[in-house]
Formats: sequence, structure tokens, C-alpha cells
Amino acid sequence: MQEPPLHILNNIFGYSEFRGQQEEIVGSAINGEDCLVIMPTGGGKSLCYQIPALARKGMGIVVSPLIALMEDQVTTLQQLGINAAYLNSTLTREEKSNLAQAINHGDIDILYIAPERLLQSNTLNWLSTKDISLIAIDEAHCVSQWGHDFRADYLGLHQLKEVFPNTPRIALTATANQEHQNEIVDRLELSAPKRFVSSFDRPNIHYSVQPKKNARTQLIQFLKARRQQAGIVYCLSRKKVESTAEWLRKQGINALPYHAGLDTSIRADNLKVFLQEDAVVMVATIAFGMGIDKPDVRFVCHLDLPKSIEAYYQETGRAGRDGNPADAWMVYGLNDVVQLRQMVDQSNASEEHKRNERSKLDSLLGWCEVTNCRRTALLNYFGESVEANCGNCDTCTTPPPKWDATEPAQKLMSNIVRTGQRFGVVYNLEVLRGKKTDKVLQYGHEKLSTFGIGKDVPEDTWRSILRQLIVQGFISVDINNYGALQLTEKSRPILRGESQLFLRKDLKEDIEKKGYRKS
Ligand code: ADP
Ligand code: ZN
Repeated sequence: MQEPPLHILNNIFGYSEFRGQQEEIVGSAINGEDCLVIMPTGGGKSLCYQIPALARKGMGIVVSPLIALMEDQVTTLQQLGINAAYLNSTLTREEKSNLAQAINHGDIDILYIAPERLLQSNTLNWLSTKDISLIAIDEAHCVSQWGHDFRADYLGLHQLKEVFPNTPRIALTATANQEHQNEIVDRLELSAPKRFVSSFDRPNIHYSVQPKKNARTQLIQFLKARRQQAGIVYCLSRKKVESTAEWLRKQGINALPYHAGLDTSIRADNLKVFLQEDAVVMVATIAFGMGIDKPDVRFVCHLDLPKSIEAYYQETGRAGRDGNPADAWMVYGLNDVVQLRQMVDQSNASEEHKRNERSKLDSLLGWCEVTNCRRTALLNYFGESVEANCGNCDTCTTPPPKWDATEPAQKLMSNIVRTGQRFGVVYNLEVLRGKKTDKVLQYGHEKLSTFGIGKDVPEDTWRSILRQLIVQGFISVDINNYGALQLTEKSRPILRGESQLFLRKDLKEDIEKKGYRKS
């Protein structure tokens, strides 16, 4: 007789009820169905595979990309009396052979394993002779080549379908828009998976994004109002992590650095202090975070722009996992954007990949520049349709001064239509701004009615208009078609003048102050 999932939840995990979609997910997996679970960080993904792994006959396999994460989870499970183990490179020869024996005897309930280890043919051959209850693929977005956490080893995981044809597979991640979801399903070759997409809303997180003036002063003001709280301050470079942590300490803030270049023991010590003591501020690169389970992180600050909205969401998602009010605070400047663009340009990635990264960065910038509710814009980006203002973000509580950019937006959109929705940002702006480049002449676009109608608007303003149109879903970027700009279903109301586009006034003034040249 199978033990009912609710019993396992109550008696083993000590929780009284399932949360959100957990019960349905657990049910599907127990029924042997493949599942795709999109649930924000802290939503409770682990139980979605741990419970069916225990309820079904055999050992559950959990593919996880991070050794630290595996060790954490296994310790927690062992404390609950579950026979959990991990198989990775940190085990000694003896530990490995003991573990192998335990598995052979059917003594292990849940095995955590890194993808490269699982995919070794001797491991696969061996495990294929065992009863496997379920295979969970955690951090499934790592299979996406466009994502910021891509891991080549994940690409091989589709083999599991053949090796374990009767074992349900459940892929889980906290970041995936529709496009990414499809990519995960395709690459992992999930069989008619049930999809469970939870809301990305984190209502207790207050979002705030300010233009960078004096970043340190802005940060210290923010931190001084939160003396008794633990939080994370993200910086782009290791050097900046160290200098910022040092500076904060001089200001009397209990700050510690964390980045991949630090000595392992220092890193471990700093992490321990952060987890165990109160009110520690961890200044870190993004190497810090994935899988850190500290429920009372009260704020996540960004001194530099992350790479994308997805990355931002995941990083800020580490705040307020206990459900109490928390802050996501960021300052950004156009210099950051230039720096990030250069990093993209100079990387060895393919042109296609770079185009995608630039477009992600633009979406993030577009989100920084929104004039309407930040939360609504964030959720819309992840494909959730929300209309109401949240009342818990900076744009809701202190609406920024705006100007009406509907008319230039219409010009831009009609230019996209007239050039056949086949061209990217640069070309569209050339036509709009009346540049007789070789390409423009080659297509004869100097004869279009939209040629040069945008001469009087600075290029940076055009870019900002474009970002807003993209982030609000009026224009889409076709990544598979050289980044061609295209109108969407939502475009009509703007073209007809039934809907307006507002932009931030502060931004317009900044651009004009820059002493911009008109042509
Ligand atoms: P995720 O992997 O989605 O980031 P976790 O699985 O680590 O989230 O869960 C986040 C926290 O929520 C954990 O501390 C976990 O114990 C707790 N949790 C998960 N499900 C429940 C539940 N049904 N009832 C109470 N607490 C839960
Ligand atoms: Zn809001």
C-alpha cells in the first residue's frame, strides 16, 4: 500500500497542509506523469519531488547543478529521518563504495546527483537496473542556452527518457517565460508533461529602482534605515565587492564580501556568519545565492544592473522568503548599460547569443524606466496578465513625472510596419532619423513617408521609447530573425490613439542635458 502524500507531508515533513499547487503536482508525479513546474524561488519546489519520490516504489533521483545545494538538502532530509544521500566529487572512494552498496540494497530513498556524474555511462547502466521512483531535474532552466545559468551537461539529460522509460520525470525551475518553458520541454524531451505555472508575484517585496547619482551615498542611506536587518548587496565585479564591503565596514555596517575568487574557507566562514548571525550584510557577486535558504533576508540591493529581468527576479527573490515585508532596491546608470553591452560585445559567444543578451538587457532597462506599476510590469514580462497597481513599489507610491510619448511611439510603429517588420533597432532608427545609409538606399526606404520623421527626437530618446514599447508588449523582438522588430496584438490601441505611452521626464531631461547632437 502506498502511503498517502498528505501523511508524508504531516508525519515526515511536519507541515499541516500543501501550499499552492504542491498537492496537484505531487499527485501527477505519483501517477507517473512527467511534469514541468515553474514556481518562484521559495515557493516550495523541493516537496513537489521529495514526496512522490517517497510515495512511489524505488529510489528517487534528483539532478542538481550545485554541490552546496545538494549537501544542504541531504542534511535536511536526513534530519527528518529520510535516507537521503548525494553522489558527487566530494565523496571519498570509501564513501562512494558504501553508498553504492546502500543503493544496491535498496536502502536509499532519495539520491542527489550532479548531471555530469549521472550521465556517465557506467552510472547510467548501473542505475538502470534499479527501481527508480522518479527523476527530478532541479534548476531545469540550466538547459536553456539563452539563459544566464546554462550548463552544457544539462543538454545530455534527454537520455534519461530512454534509459528510464517508465520513470516519471519532473523538471523544476524558478525562471521561465513561455518561450523558455517550451525550450525546457523540448530539450529534456519530457513526454506530454503537465505544466504547473505558479504566480511570480512576491507581494511582500517592495520594488524600487533609482537612477544612480552617488551610489554609495544612496546605499548607505538605504542601509542606515535598516540597521537590524540582514541583506545582500550585489555588485558586478569581485573588486567592487571587496571595496564596497570594506567601505561599508568603515561606515559601521556589518558587511562581508563573497565572491568566487575568495579562499574557500573565507567564503564558507562568511556564509556561516551571514546565516547564523543577525543583521549581516553580504556584499557579493551573483556567485552568491543560488540555493541559499535564509528566510529572513530583508533586502536585496543591486549596485550594478543584472543581466536580465530573469536574473533580477531570481536575485531579488532571495529577499523575504518568510513572507514578511522585504525590499528589492536598485540603482542604475547609463554607464552600467554601456559596461554590460561591452561585456556582451567582447564575449566569444555567437552573434545570435549576443543579440539575445542585448535584447534581454534592453528589456531590463525598459523595466527600470517604467512609469506605471513596477510589479505589474514585472509580472507582465513573465506572461502574467495583471492590470491593477500594486501600491507596494516606488512607481505606485511616488509616481515619477512623465511626458506623453504617444505620438513618437506611433511614428516608430508605423515605420516598423512600412519597412516590413523585418529590421532591427538600428535600421529602424536610421530610417526614422533620415539617415541615407547604403542599406537604406539599397531598400529604397528613403522614399518612405516615415523616412526622417523622427529627426527632432534624440536617438537615446528613441531607444528609450522603443524599450518601453517592448517591455510593455507593444512591440516584440524576433530573436530568430536577426532581432527584427514586429508589432503585436497589443499595438493597435496605440496606433489608433486609444492608448497612450508615457515616459519618464527625468530620463528625457538627462538625455537632453547630455548635449545630444540631432543628426
Ligand atoms: P524552492 O525550492 O521553491 O525555492 P523550497 O522547496 O526550498 O523552495 O521551500 C521554501 C521553504 O518553504 C522551505 O523552508 C520549505 O520547508 C517551506 N515549505 C515548502 N512547502 C511547505 C508547506 N506545504 N508548508 C509549509 N512550509 C513549506
Ligand atoms: Zn506597484
